Amino acid sequence: MADPAQCSIKVVCRFRPLNSSEVARGDKYIPKFQGEDCVTIGGKPYYFDRVFQSNTTQVQFYNAVAQKIVKDVLEGYNGTIFAYGQTSSGKTHTMEGKLHDPDMMGIIPRIVQDIFNYIYSMDENLEFHIKVSYFEIYLDKIRDLLDVTKTNLSVHEDKNRVPYVKGCTERFVCSPQEVMDAIDEGKNNRHVAVTNMNEHSSRSHSIFLINIKQENTQTEQKLTGKLYLVDLAGSEKVGKTGAEGTVLDEAKMINKSLSSLGIVISALAEGSSYIPYRDSKMTRILQDSLGGNCRTTMVICCSPSSFNDAETKSTLLFGQRAK
Ligand code: ADP
Ligand code: MG
Repeated sequence: MADPAQCSIKVVCRFRPLNSSEVARGDKYIPKFQGEDCVTIGGKPYYFDRVFQSNTTQVQFYNAVAQKIVKDVLEGYNGTIFAYGQTSSGKTHTMEGKLHDPDMMGIIPRIVQDIFNYIYSMDENLEFHIKVSYFEIYLDKIRDLLDVTKTNLSVHEDKNRVPYVKGCTERFVCSPQEVMDAIDEGKNNRHVAVTNMNEHSSRSHSIFLINIKQENTQTEQKLTGKLYLVDLAGSEKVGKTGAEGTVLDEAKMINKSLSSLGIVISALAEGSSYIPYRDSKMTRILQDSLGGNCRTTMVICCSPSSFNDAETKSTLLFGQRAK
């Protein structure tokens, strides 16, 4: 394993509280927390860079996990934050939360606020150009959430061999409000396109990209950084019996993309000389924002319920492999 002090990949784990139906069913609360970096399930310890208990607030989580990455991106680094876990484990709560509620908003709206607060605090010689993209990967197809006519975009490489989603909308934004409008618009488009949003969001990866370009108008010095914010498809195993047709195709695609993501992250963490980015669309797209000179954080989201015991263990193991 790479020296953790040098390693730009962090893996943190967050448990949500038991929900009311789990309490009503009499489920047990199974995690036991030890210090700031260990959780045990059934006596077996799992270690992470940080472990967050169920009572962690949105602002506490943001300050501990995301704030530093925003600073790094404003200094010209690329970064990626993922939320991984089974459906209903808290991925969307962590990434988005309640977008327009100051206490309950997740990391994306807080990042947006912090970026603009930084910009407003800088002197006038710095010019900022910020653009955002918002797309999802479903059944291995890339769909632009800011333009519903683009339903099957492809990954190309630019002249520096950096992969990107060709033709994806890039929306220039000048205020936090304009970013939030783009997010609302994208979420709305996503809703309109599908019949069951809960099912759909558990089977697709949603990716929000913030691209920041700065130019000092006196020295002409330029700096760019980009940040990918990824709400992954649910990691749960689809029942082996009965799954067929689309459901089976979806399950296969999700397994393949999540496992290739896990392989890429662990290869990066080990400092391996060969990183299999090309094995999935997601890892190709994220290629220049993972590992190396980038800031990568994987948030492992977990249910605390005895009912989800097996999925929680497999989620925790996925996170450990990435370390
Ligand atoms: P996922 O996106 O992984 O499917 P969600 O983020 O939608 O899961 O979470 C499922 C439910 O649990 C939501 O109603 C959400 O508000 C709630 N929830 C998730 N994490 C927390 C948390 N840390 N604290 C309180 N409620 C949470
Ligand atoms: Mg979700």
